[in-house]
Amino acid sequence: MTNNSRQNSHKVYQRAQQLMPGGVNSAARAFGAVGGEPIVFEKGEGAYLQDIDGNRYIDYIGSWGPMILGHQFQAVKDAVHLAVERGTSFGAPTVAENQLAELIIEAVPSVEMVRLVNSGTEATMSAIRVARGFTGRDQVVKFAGNYHGHVDSLLVSAGSAAATLSVPNSPGVTEGTTRDTLVLNYNDCEQLAATFAEQGEQIAAVILEPVCGNMGCVTPTPEFLAMLRQLTEAAGSVLIFDEVMCGFRVAYSGAQSLYGVTPDMTTMGKIVGGGLPLGAFGGRRDIMQHVLPAGKVFQAGTLSGNPIATAAGIAMLTALRDSPPYDYLEQVSQQLADGLQSACRSAGIEHCLNRVGSMMTLFFQSGPVTDWDTAAKSDVARFGKYFWGMIEQGVYMPCSQFEALFVSSQHSSDDIAATIEAAQKILPELK
Ligand SMILES: *Cc1c(COP(=O)(O)O)cnc(C)c1O
Repeated sequence: MTNNSRQNSHKVYQRAQQLMPGGVNSAARAFGAVGGEPIVFEKGEGAYLQDIDGNRYIDYIGSWGPMILGHQFQAVKDAVHLAVERGTSFGAPTVAENQLAELIIEAVPSVEMVRLVNSGTEATMSAIRVARGFTGRDQVVKFAGNYHGHVDSLLVSAGSAAATLSVPNSPGVTEGTTRDTLVLNYNDCEQLAATFAEQGEQIAAVILEPVCGNMGCVTPTPEFLAMLRQLTEAAGSVLIFDEVMCGFRVAYSGAQSLYGVTPDMTTMGKIVGGGLPLGAFGGRRDIMQHVLPAGKVFQAGTLSGNPIATAAGIAMLTALRDSPPYDYLEQVSQQLADGLQSACRSAGIEHCLNRVGSMMTLFFQSGPVTDWDTAAKSDVARFGKYFWGMIEQGVYMPCSQFEALFVSSQHSSDDIAATIEAAQKILPELK
């Protein structure tokens, strides 16, 4: 499905730039890293997106993660329709909130209590506040290249959108705000041990992506995860797994179930809302009891747990629990990974592919990619050409080398084969 003009997209984007900064409502959409103009979409169906010029694409972004069951998944659609019939928001408790909380707690055993919020950013922001309130300490450790949403205190060395735009420290984020944030290197056990030896008693929390997607897909070593658990426990610091991206994605019970490491708190977003704005944070009961009004750490939200997003989340998690797509996702994702690697080999292109289940990144470098410093060595100019080449072939992939692509349960083996064929065509031209 070779695509034609994107004239209508161009017109809409021209107007959008006068209406919204950069013409978008999220920096990650602006194609800043690959140059050129974003594509404007009309609809999504299963594994496909259609733009407003009528071009069709195999979609490997899936709204940046939520669409693990493809676009317009019937059970989610039905649940949203039903919920709308009863009213969109009451700002008061509903039965559905219990149902979603039960589903989350059942799915993720380390989560004993949960609070629903409206985005992943809200979830991490609140989790950090709770960890500080619980420990009475100020310092937070994060890792370079890990993104935890646009929380002021975490917007240092923040991966993807931030790294891509070369603003590791955004203007407007004060030194005071980030003074208590320590940035360490992902997978660096020595540095982690030294930091805890020196100031473990001052560290309120360590937050990380237990499978990283926001510097491209990067996996933690077992030693790194084990050391994180051991050091935080010994120092009385709260270990927070930011599973906004990898939760319900790499496994129904998240990266923590895959690696057998139990965090104190977990943040969620993306898939948990079924494509609607919903996030969640939860964890040990004794920690969560510090959240207002059970405890004193302030947290609130006018639309938190609203009936529409909650209904979508319930339908999504129920579908994932009752008909787990994970074996199928592993199979088609393996097929895609093998195909892309062999296409690179045939074309003589240096590459390194990192993958966990249906999350993966093809880095244009020989690798290995284990942290932000190694990820940053990738050939981003080559990535930009690859990205646009694939667009012309009808394949919509993340618009940055430092993002993971996502496969959904609606991607057929034929879709994967077509994607590999497109790569075989494009890659030799990038030599
Ligand atoms: C997307 C993401 C966030 C932020 O979630 P939003 O819903 O965009 O605010 C936080 N952490 C991780 C790991 C993410 O991938």
